[in-house]
Amino acid sequence: MTRFTKLIFLTLLGMILLASCKGPLGNTMLTVDTTRCVGCGECEEVCPYDAIEIIDGDAVIDPGLCHQCNRCVEICPEGAIY
Ligand code: SF4
Ligand code: SF4
Repeated sequence: MTRFTKLIFLTLLGMILLASCKGPLGNTMLTVDTTRCVGCGECEEVCPYDAIEIIDGDAVIDPGLCHQCNRCVEICPEGAIY
């Protein structure tokens, strides 16, 4: 493999990896139902991206950090995130 071919190959590989990387979506579709949320903080603890904060007793999701992994949805004992 020539140097040029290697360069092309690595560039293409990098582009494919970047394209497949699921970054923050910036516009999460998740909603916190504040009538159900009891502020237990379980969602905040489970979120791997620190996208949830408990503010005034309710979970608040930062859409700029959320990757829509759905862990918070699965763990919420009140079914308050959907
Ligand atoms: S896990 Fe559910 S009830 Fe607990 S803080 Fe999060 S949204 Fe609220
Ligand atoms: S869906 Fe995942 S990334 Fe988004 S707030 Fe819930 S736990 Fe965090």
